[in-house]
Amino acid sequence: MIDLQSHSVVSDGQLEPADVVRSAAEAGVKVMSLTDHDGIAGVETANRVAAELGITNLPATEMSCVHKYSEDLHICGYWVDLERIRPACERAQQERINRAKAIIAKLNKHGLDVSFEDAVARAGAADAIGRPHIAKAAGAGPDLGPFFEEYLVPGAKAFVSREWPSAEQAVGLIHDAGGVAVVAHPYWDVQAPDQVRDLVESLVRDVGLDGIETFYPPHTAAQTRHCLELCEEFNLVATASSDFHGPTHKTFSRWLAYNTYDLGEPQVPVKPGA
Ligand code: AMP
Ligand code: MN
Repeated sequence: MIDLQSHSVVSDGQLEPADVVRSAAEAGVKVMSLTDHDGIAGVETANRVAAELGITNLPATEMSCVHKYSEDLHICGYWVDLERIRPACERAQQERINRAKAIIAKLNKHGLDVSFEDAVARAGAADAIGRPHIAKAAGAGPDLGPFFEEYLVPGAKAFVSREWPSAEQAVGLIHDAGGVAVVAHPYWDVQAPDQVRDLVESLVRDVGLDGIETFYPPHTAAQTRHCLELCEEFNLVATASSDFHGPTHKTFSRWLAYNTYDLGEPQVPVKPGA
């Protein structure tokens, strides 16, 4: 049982890294990956607890990046060397802080009473801050959707785009750290099939993308089939995840929640050089 994307309190998950691993093992996952956004602080603990429980954790991070088809594209880097990826994570975390301050300044201009400190308190730590934390600190309801639509999506009142890295740079940073670059949930971030194709084709051609997260809870059968076809065509690894964020997360609360639609089997990226 394979499930290769999950989040702890190091980014926007609900559980401590060790508890993420315990919940995976309890759910029957054999190969997992703690993929905190732009963060690796939980990886060593996850590796250790996984080994104690007799399962495997692929060391990884999920890098946020920008691309012409998505202002928030995610690329998972599996098997990254932690020391070599650390500077990229640190820079990305500083970019998050700068962006959050810019967004909050815009919200203040629109009359919303929210401070950077409020948002950091929601995030738990400044280096993991993201738009969901800002929305909560600004008083958004339990469904963050309406607040995002009004203020935080591209074109909305307080939107500020991410400046670094581009998708190409993210793949390069992962490769430079000895990792395998897999574009996460492409149909979550990009909707049109021709754009998903162009995204994958160009990243393969230009920077050697290695895989597509093909099996993913919101992916439909048609979208899953398209991802599998692209993996076949470009010789990419087809991964799977439920994007576990914690037991009471609104959308991603259950391990192994993805559907294969009997179209194929998820694969585990091979460690480079192994
Ligand atoms: P950030 O890392 O600051 O770019 O925030 C990205 C996160 O914001 C995503 O992982 C989602 O959890 C959340 N998000 C993005 N768009 C929306 C939306 N329209 N409604 C609710 N949450 C969203
Ligand atoms: Mn993601």
